[in-house]
Amino acid sequence: MPIATVNPANGETLKTYDALGAEEIEHRLATADATFRTYRTTSFAERARLMRRAAELLDEDADDIARVMTTEMGKPVKQARAEAAKCAKAMRWYADHAEVLLTDVEPSDADVKDSGASRVLVRCRPLGPVLAVMPWNFPLWQVIRFAAPALMAGNVGLLKHASNVPRTAVYLEELFRRAGFPEGCFQTLLIGSGAVEGLLRDPRVKAATLTGSEPAGRAVASVAGDEVKKTVLELGGSDPYVVMPSADVERAAEVAVTARAQNNGQSCIAAKRFIVHADVYDAFAERFVAGMRALKVGDPLDEETEVGPLSSEQGRADLEELVDEAVESGATVLCGGERPDGPGWYYPPTVLADITPQMRIHHEEAFGPVATLYRVADLDEAIAIANDSPFGLSSNVWTRETAEADRFVRDLEAGAVYVNGMTASHPAFPFGGAKRSGYGRELSGHGIREFCNITTVWHG
Ligand code: NAP
Repeated sequence: MPIATVNPANGETLKTYDALGAEEIEHRLATADATFRTYRTTSFAERARLMRRAAELLDEDADDIARVMTTEMGKPVKQARAEAAKCAKAMRWYADHAEVLLTDVEPSDADVKDSGASRVLVRCRPLGPVLAVMPWNFPLWQVIRFAAPALMAGNVGLLKHASNVPRTAVYLEELFRRAGFPEGCFQTLLIGSGAVEGLLRDPRVKAATLTGSEPAGRAVASVAGDEVKKTVLELGGSDPYVVMPSADVERAAEVAVTARAQNNGQSCIAAKRFIVHADVYDAFAERFVAGMRALKVGDPLDEETEVGPLSSEQGRADLEELVDEAVESGATVLCGGERPDGPGWYYPPTVLADITPQMRIHHEEAFGPVATLYRVADLDEAIAIANDSPFGLSSNVWTRETAEADRFVRDLEAGAVYVNGMTASHPAFPFGGAKRSGYGRELSGHGIREFCNITTVWHG
């Protein structure tokens, strides 16, 4: 895949970039390694000062970088601006909290005495250069949610971003440099995916995090496993969105539209499978389909646009294939389902009903504004269908009955359960999946400790 900015709204190639050669990669690795040796000894106060400065710069740049993201991957510009603001918030959150999150922990007096020690403490020390392999769908956020905690912990970052968002990737390196982080703290490597294995095998790279598809995750984790290096994987999702009879159906349907169509439907934590109790199925379906149909599809640079084009021609072809296969196998199209003529990689908001387990879309991730609807008889069936997926990223449940909510929280196989709301990440809460959605956590204290050497210090 060439490293290039191609505008998904019209297919025009705006700029192509040469991939780094072996010598340039070596230079950046050596810089990361050398920088880590001194950066690891800096204080939390100093790192926080730099991180807050980076957040300030990002706030100032928000309009410009939002337009860059929109031009590279097609998200509505309003959502791109919101993404930049969310990144600045996460940077400040880690600047404020990292020291406390990583503070030494002392075991109980009884355990210290039992071990024969006079004093024991558990200290989180940084690991070194961490490689981040990142996707295009939230081109700033996916990187910042790795970089903010990693840099606050005293690690240094190497970014291999998706090949279709090179301008955003270059901007990120500049942002940290302009904020005053020492050269080598955060570097962007413009490389194709074929160069990732060499980096993972380099002894100077200590760990890796990948956000992306399952095949990419498997490839990176296999090599890292072979090298006995820690990985965090944030992979795909096909989140269930369950609506029970006691729910506020009108609100559930309204939120469902945003939950499915946000980011042009290309979000790992978008609700994708809508599992609705028979008692409220018709009422929900009518409102949900009306809401999906009413979404304003168009130029993503237009402030009014709610759904822009998909990020690539291939992405649209894959989505279309999933829909077509479902329809050929008996699914009913309630809205959308037809690729429009004209330039750009647009696909309309689509709702499919009468889904069966034989259809590919039942098990695969629909990465675009396509929803599947299921009618269920009771809570047990809702849970069974929700869990009948290889993925387990997040889940959404609408009910006003506490006992019912408790059952979902106990039984849904996912890294999060959102009750009466849609999934949205927050810097203070852990984020990550179960099953084939990956392992490890980002954000919160869990995220910052993923790339730490958790060290027991024992004094006799
Ligand atoms: P992708 O094709 O897997 O690409 C992700 C990154 O991995 C890119 O930088 C890509 O580089 C690289 N890559 C691909 N194959 C590789 C390989 N064999 N070895 C090493 N690196 C490789 O995914 P995407 O299309 O960008 O993103 C969409 C996917 O990401 C969806 O499945 C979505 O659900 C998932 N996602 C998950 C989360 C989460 O938090 N769980 C968040 C966002 C997205 P190139 O671009 O150069 O190919």
